[in-house]
Amino acid sequence: MIPEEEKTALTKELNEKGVFFTPSIEIRIDRLDNIPLMELETNNENGIYNRVRKVLKPIVNYGWDNNILRITNIYGDEFSIHVYLGKNKGIISGWEITIWDYKGTKTVGVWYKTYAADDDKLNINEIRSIKTRLEEFTLHILHCSDCQTTMPSDRGIAFNPEYHKEYYGGQYFAGHYCKKCWEVKWRAIESRENYD
Ligand SMILES: [Zn+2]
Repeated sequence: MIPEEEKTALTKELNEKGVFFTPSIEIRIDRLDNIPLMELETNNENGIYNRVRKVLKPIVNYGWDNNILRITNIYGDEFSIHVYLGKNKGIISGWEITIWDYKGTKTVGVWYKTYAADDDKLNINEIRSIKTRLEEFTLHILHCSDCQTTMPSDRGIAFNPEYHKEYYGGQYFAGHYCKKCWEVKWRAIESRENYD
């Protein structure tokens, strides 16, 4: 929430009328070889992502913790993307790119990249790897968050060995697991969470 005095007249009018919406910043996957990851980094106050957020905030009073960065694939499907420069005791450990489905309820994939400089960009091979994963999601194929095997995106989709290697097992937070990993490990973790 933003202080009352910082709200624009438009924001106040929208709030009074009960109209709420969350904007999004849309990046096309093919453009990522041109945009330094630092511009999209979640904690970089001077990057494009946070500069746009700061401008939008007084107009559209969305929650600060909302991730409003989106990426689209060739089918026009939108995903939620998070770019993070990992640090361990002040020392940079590397780039971490996480993509969820639009609602943020399913992890589509996590990619890691070695940090070289502030103008690091994704290369063509990295973009290709992300693109493949996003296209698979549109075709209802997910990768197990543990072993990375392919499986249907939910229980409702019939097992088709042509596309998937494993059955769907279950979901724990945004992670989803193939039947094997679910039975061996994640079912127990999920039930422990429920009974604590
Ligand atoms: Zn698995």
